[in-house]
Amino acid sequence: MGFVGKAAERRSTRQIMVGAVPVGGGAPVTVQSMTITKTADVEGTLAQIYALAGAGADIVRCTCNESAAAEGLAQIVPRSPVPIVADIHHQYLMALAALDAGVHCLRLNPGNIRRPEHIKLVAQEARDRKVPIRIGVNAGSLDPKLYEKHGGATPEALVESARIELAYFEEVGFDDVKISVKASNVPLMIEAYRMLADVTDHPLHLGVTEAGPPPAGLIKSTAGLATLLAEGIGDTIRYSLTADPVEEARAGRQLLEAMGLRERKGLDLIACPSCGRAEIDVIKVARDAQEAFEGRNLPIQVAVMGCVVNGPGEAREADLGIAAGRKRGHLFVKGKVVRVVPEDEMVSALVEEAERLVAEGVEARLAAADEGAAAEAEADRLALLEEQGADANATAQRVELINKRFDAG
Ligand code: SF4
Repeated sequence: MGFVGKAAERRSTRQIMVGAVPVGGGAPVTVQSMTITKTADVEGTLAQIYALAGAGADIVRCTCNESAAAEGLAQIVPRSPVPIVADIHHQYLMALAALDAGVHCLRLNPGNIRRPEHIKLVAQEARDRKVPIRIGVNAGSLDPKLYEKHGGATPEALVESARIELAYFEEVGFDDVKISVKASNVPLMIEAYRMLADVTDHPLHLGVTEAGPPPAGLIKSTAGLATLLAEGIGDTIRYSLTADPVEEARAGRQLLEAMGLRERKGLDLIACPSCGRAEIDVIKVARDAQEAFEGRNLPIQVAVMGCVVNGPGEAREADLGIAAGRKRGHLFVKGKVVRVVPEDEMVSALVEEAERLVAEGVEARLAAADEGAAAEAEADRLALLEEQGADANATAQRVELINKRFDAG
């Protein structure tokens, strides 16, 4: 078991159920994404939902913006592999239609459904059907009155919007709620969620809205989500990327795995950044390995290292790795060399060993190591050290030069 950081200490919240998926109350943090098909296109939307679920989404949201979309939801919900949330803006009647369609959760935007009688009617219907609602505040579509009162979309304004909505819900005895206060401005979003976490024990749905296309969108989203998750805040997350939503689901899953908040389901490929010692094109081999492992879902960490001098040692925590040296690849399991393969077979050997490692376990693969592989590898390593010197950056010589300068002075 590796190091488990503070991210494991979650803020304590009440729990809601989105279909069969628990959110909050100590449940694992979940990943959400949203379809970009027309919801009325039932087959197209279902295909995307399946792709999202395959990439790591636990919950998927679909827009419900017209009666044809609500009709689509009635067909999608029973065939979906994950719970479905209906996204509602402007029209409270669409929220009621989505409930009729059997969705597992609603998302209401308090900024654009503002009449108290409409809000309370939706909450009553949701209460009677035991369907939770996400209060989805968005800095970009904040109630103009709150915008004016606070002089802009401030953290206080976002939190107040959520609290006003919650108060309407409570008037009709409904509190099966999770909340989001998203903004595209990362510091604003972080502050709003921190404030919200202080005043409510409802589970929180995190997101940096309209983050844009990757890589900047990924960086902005990760900055916001990871900061809050590391503070124990956040029960379900969504990356909002201008990209194929499968990328959102994959990123969400990878973030949670990287932070130790979800069990590893996919492969974790690590690679050295390369340096003057590299014996191969590390970037290309890492990319080839990434492609070769795509879709294999092997729950292990695999390392691609540019040289045998430092590679196996630096990646000894990885389950499996390969390091390059003298036109050969040294394949190692938990830091121990088990095979030496020709350079052009490095990626295929890595994939084959990964499959066997998952199927047979570490002990069996160490026991099946090629006889003589360790000695062969050590000979390569020593030969390289001989060629390049132990000090590839000539640090000792440089230090000597510096010392000489001072001695001379
Ligand atoms: S493993 Fe080797 S090539 Fe890669 S960064 Fe370290 S020293 Fe450089």
